[in-house]
Amino acid sequence: MPADPATETRSIFARHALLPDGWAENVRIDVGEDGTIAGVATGQSLRRSDAARIVLPAPGNLHSHSFQRAMAGMTERRAAGRDSFWTWRELMYRFLDVLTPDQLEAIAAFTFMEMLEAGYAAVGEFHYVHHQPGGTPYDALAETSERMMAAAGATGIGLTHLPVLYSYGGAGKQDLKGGQLRFGCDPERFEKLFEAARKTLERSLPADARIGIAPHSLRATEPEALKAIVAAHSAGPVHMHAAEQTLEIEEVEAWLGARPIDWIASNLPLDERWCLIHSTHMTEAETLTLAGSGAVAGLCPITESNLGDGIFNAEAYLDAGGQIGIGSDSNIRIALSEELRTLEYSQRLRDRARNVLAGDPKGPAEGATGQRLYLSALAGSARALDRKAGAIEAGRLADLVAIDGDAIALAALTPSQFIDGWVFAGDDRLVTDVWAAGRHCVENGQHKDHAAITARYRAAIESLVARI
Ligand SMILES: [Zn+2]
Repeated sequence: MPADPATETRSIFARHALLPDGWAENVRIDVGEDGTIAGVATGQSLRRSDAARIVLPAPGNLHSHSFQRAMAGMTERRAAGRDSFWTWRELMYRFLDVLTPDQLEAIAAFTFMEMLEAGYAAVGEFHYVHHQPGGTPYDALAETSERMMAAAGATGIGLTHLPVLYSYGGAGKQDLKGGQLRFGCDPERFEKLFEAARKTLERSLPADARIGIAPHSLRATEPEALKAIVAAHSAGPVHMHAAEQTLEIEEVEAWLGARPIDWIASNLPLDERWCLIHSTHMTEAETLTLAGSGAVAGLCPITESNLGDGIFNAEAYLDAGGQIGIGSDSNIRIALSEELRTLEYSQRLRDRARNVLAGDPKGPAEGATGQRLYLSALAGSARALDRKAGAIEAGRLADLVAIDGDAIALAALTPSQFIDGWVFAGDDRLVTDVWAAGRHCVENGQHKDHAAITARYRAAIESLVARI
């Protein structure tokens, strides 16, 4: 394991910090060399520069396809007829005809940097562009996984790498075609790729990095292979897309005789290792099943809005004790506070009500809405990304975000209103600093390599767009 020059024993001071038992003042957080929190003390004297700092545990972004960041803004016009998720997917496939490993890495580095600057400390990269255009593997089978790791290493973000098993072009074992050929793995090739990726991850990234598996979806796999891959990986996260689109649900129901989440819960060992991405369209019974399973629902409110997916059944799910986390998925826009706001607003618009998701996740359903959503996302992302994070206490990873207590969006607010102010009245410009497992990645609102990473991204997408 290479030594990480950014990690050293240090103390982080905060005027206000959100600790496990609530808000505290004049806090010192000691971070050890291994990137975990060594101790927390209150009632400390602060330096003038820390006098307005508010420190929170930083959540992870549990679902990303980083390369899709390069498509942002290119699919926001209507072609013939009514536009849909499936026309968006066509542009993605045109990108896949030309994307190179260098471009994938440059885009990923920029995307991970934006996540850090938004306040996320970690990312679950759901990675399926494995092969060359046409489907021929690279000389190194896990070449593109290694590019994701290089991008994570360059930015400092905590990576949970999720190589994807993608074997079929649609429900009922349809053949892969076009851009999908770059994703294709049968279970045997997938296991080789996973092993190669695991070795590189352990060799090249800090100890907080993780690897899990991501069977893409029911439509891109088949039941026997799915059961086998889950049985073969008895530890680590399992992520899977489920129930995002109504067409997908109809196809799966016609093929397997059950709706996707029903089928998964009945046929696979759904538990705390699992994260079902989207889970947008659930019956009341599926909602209770998923909530009771311990699995995390990986919600991606900005992408789901952008793609017109539908509205997650959040109130019943949270009331039943369900775990949620937040992902930026297509990366059309990377904004932590806006993801949480969009989730709540989707419920308000549907129910014609306010503060639908308010309350303390451990207590009665009353209280601050933004803070409840934030705490839920913290717990869910720590579970889904297999990170010992999510709280400011000794022994947890120092995944921390500082926001500016002098920001006008927080003026005259009390600590119990700070997160509501950030989520509903502010935006991610409030973020001043982010630490990922103690690595101080963002200072004064910017990643330390912001200019170089941005320049490389601009060059990569301009050369990419010139070829599609
Ligand atoms: Zn996705």
